[in-house]
Amino acid sequence: MKRTIFTLLICSLLISSGYSGNRADKNGGFCAVASFYPVYIIAKNIVRDVPNVSVANMTPPLTGCLHDYSITTADMIRLEKANLFIVNGAGMESFIDKTVARYPNLKIVELSRGIPLITDGTQANPHVWVSVTDTIRMVKNCTDAFCNADPAHSALYRTNERIYTAKLEALKKEMDAVLKPFRGRKIITFHEAFPYFAKEYGFVIVTVIEREPGSEPSAKELADTITLVREKRIKTLFTEPQYPSGAAQVIARETGASIYVLDPAVTGDDEYDAYIKIMKKNLQVLVKAFSCKPDKKSEHRHF
Ligand SMILES: [Zn+2]
Repeated sequence: MKRTIFTLLICSLLISSGYSGNRADKNGGFCAVASFYPVYIIAKNIVRDVPNVSVANMTPPLTGCLHDYSITTADMIRLEKANLFIVNGAGMESFIDKTVARYPNLKIVELSRGIPLITDGTQANPHVWVSVTDTIRMVKNCTDAFCNADPAHSALYRTNERIYTAKLEALKKEMDAVLKPFRGRKIITFHEAFPYFAKEYGFVIVTVIEREPGSEPSAKELADTITLVREKRIKTLFTEPQYPSGAAQVIARETGASIYVLDPAVTGDDEYDAYIKIMKKNLQVLVKAFSCKPDKKSEHRHF
């Protein structure tokens, strides 16, 4: 009898120490890889202080969106060792199909799963995390994935989920209350990063200055935007810290509209509360932008 119990004990010890399976890193820990910054910050909060569990950001925090990203050899080495690959989905990671084919055993979770996507008729817009409501859903998806892939630490992941969700709910409450008076405001943004954010607060995106980030608008596109700004009497243009704002400056000069910087949280510090800090800054910028009296034809830049 004693021997049977001893054997069972040894077996269960072996099983529990080998949970990380064939893809585990050399130290026996559970390692997750996140595709880019906003997804990484979510995952970082979920694995906070969970022993032997780590998350790495596959792309440097200054990469920005992954619209045209090509996977590198260093990325492949990382994915080779990963237990879980956390991606945004909705078309953000254009390389995902090739990755699935290359690593058929790699567990991949798309954090945008279950979020109603905004489309332009042909393509889904992938920038879901810019809405706090959608980020809360992404936190749940991320936690579910960790719990499924590493059930031994489920309780710790769930605790972290509760803590981070509570912070995000508080942020949402504050933003909802402060931005409520500005529903219906017409805005112009820099790239296609803000439809989910605009929907959340009832803003109307009249046009987008650069549909393809990094490619300057053509002379005709610029002229059309200037006409639109004049016609709709738009007073505020929102650029992004990740991209140069040359085109926005031309529009501002021609129309007297003011330029403000709105951050879609695709780059930032390696801090647990980085997303929350970025959104609070966006909130301040919006209040300033919408509270500003119409200016007298002079260009004002607010950073
Ligand atoms: Zn983008």
